[in-house]
Amino acid sequence: MTAGSEPDIAANLEEIHQHIARAAQRSDRNPDDVTLIAVSKTHDKEKVEAALAAGQRIFGENRVQEAQSKYPELKETWPALELHLVGPLQTNKTEDAVALFDVIQSLDREKLAKALGKAMDKLERRPRCFVQVNVGEEPQKAGVLPEEADAFIRLCRDDYELPLAGVMCIPPLEEAPAPYFALLRQIAERNGLTGLSMGMSGDYETAVELGATHVRVGTAIFGARPPQE
Ligand SMILES: *Cc1c(COP(=O)(O)O)cnc(C)c1O
Repeated sequence: MTAGSEPDIAANLEEIHQHIARAAQRSDRNPDDVTLIAVSKTHDKEKVEAALAAGQRIFGENRVQEAQSKYPELKETWPALELHLVGPLQTNKTEDAVALFDVIQSLDREKLAKALGKAMDKLERRPRCFVQVNVGEEPQKAGVLPEEADAFIRLCRDDYELPLAGVMCIPPLEEAPAPYFALLRQIAERNGLTGLSMGMSGDYETAVELGATHVRVGTAIFGARPPQE
């Protein structure tokens, strides 16, 4: 982005909260039941600080290493800061992730469940976990397939005793998201999970109408990201 077109982060947050409140009203929900996660990947620490100054406390990052470069100091300054991992987690980074993140939203395979259980025992720190579901069954996307979700959730809860808080999805980019949000909600409900992490900058209002408890918004808060490799 060029200088002079810096986003007004406080104004963006305010506007998104209004949109969330209206979407919640439309579906007879309490807006307080929706948590806005500010996804700060690729954006520098100064932008995160601007969001903190505007009252935002919940943030998301998609890479462990990038989060490590920005967040440890911020977490010391702002004890209420809560950090969510929303991107894929490699098993060799599990301990780093457990040490830094408060919530891990990308739990998607048994090997990772096992590694997370071990890391949590070792570090005596138990970040809440969301199971990521590949709702569109897209080969390039992470997540368990919808028909495998129930068994995987049972495995995580019963065998690995992970603190499961909900399910998360990223619907196919080119399609209407509503049916996928509804599918994720069904999976959560039939497994007794209350957390529903769905909705990004382009579709968080639809997600709130369909029951999202967590929306993950980046661009609409921080502005466009530089193209990623
Ligand atoms: C980047 C990202 C977001 C935020 O996307 P925007 O479209 O910029 O709001 C949400 N969820 C995940 C998993 C992401 O990687």
